[in-house]
Amino acid sequence: MILALTILLILGLGTISVYGQDCRLTKHPALFLNGDSYDLSLNGSERKCRMECEKDARCRAMTYHAIWTACWLYSDVKDTGHSHMCSSVSYQRPKDCKGPGKVIYGTNVLHSEALANKLQEIANYMGADVRVNSGLRKGTDKYHAIGQAADITISDVNSRTAWERLKSSDVFTGDYYVMYHAPGRRSCSTGVHLHIARYEKEGSTGRPTCWVLEGTTHANTCLKYEYMKCL
Ligand SMILES: [Zn+2]
Repeated sequence: MILALTILLILGLGTISVYGQDCRLTKHPALFLNGDSYDLSLNGSERKCRMECEKDARCRAMTYHAIWTACWLYSDVKDTGHSHMCSSVSYQRPKDCKGPGKVIYGTNVLHSEALANKLQEIANYMGADVRVNSGLRKGTDKYHAIGQAADITISDVNSRTAWERLKSSDVFTGDYYVMYHAPGRRSCSTGVHLHIARYEKEGSTGRPTCWVLEGTTHANTCLKYEYMKCL
């Protein structure tokens, strides 16, 4: 009995430390919210409203009204119901979400708002903090050179696990290279991390996401973009 409990405890703690709760906002068309609204802004869009909420740890839910172009952010939802106003839409975090992860930039800079939003989405999906170790920089990488790539690590999740989890999720539908840099000399890079590069600065290309492993075998030693094999 004690042994079983111990195993359960170890498994349980392991699950908590390795896998954070998915804290992304879920869409609920025509859902009506009652609660503590801490911010109201006008003249935005549904997408902008959702991103404002996604990146704010206080924000548990949001409602956007298309005719009024009004965006309400909620720190607490006390009550929900269905509205007949088709012009409004709400998004909510899962109830057991402990709060979204943060993106920590340090002194690193990106030139793509879409990429910055995607990093926040990763943090929310992982329920963990994303650390940007490099963004805009001089050098041979064409995407880093224009601020459309980020080298990231995720707190409490090793990079290979993160790559696998993201690949099997719906976080990336297209427009990105998502590359895992393995440890060791077969990788071009020092330090294990994920390299996330966006094809276009903001717009969508319609091209699928290219999932790449680097430095795990002889065949994928130190890859250039033209030699990358999308998995
Ligand atoms: Zn990189």
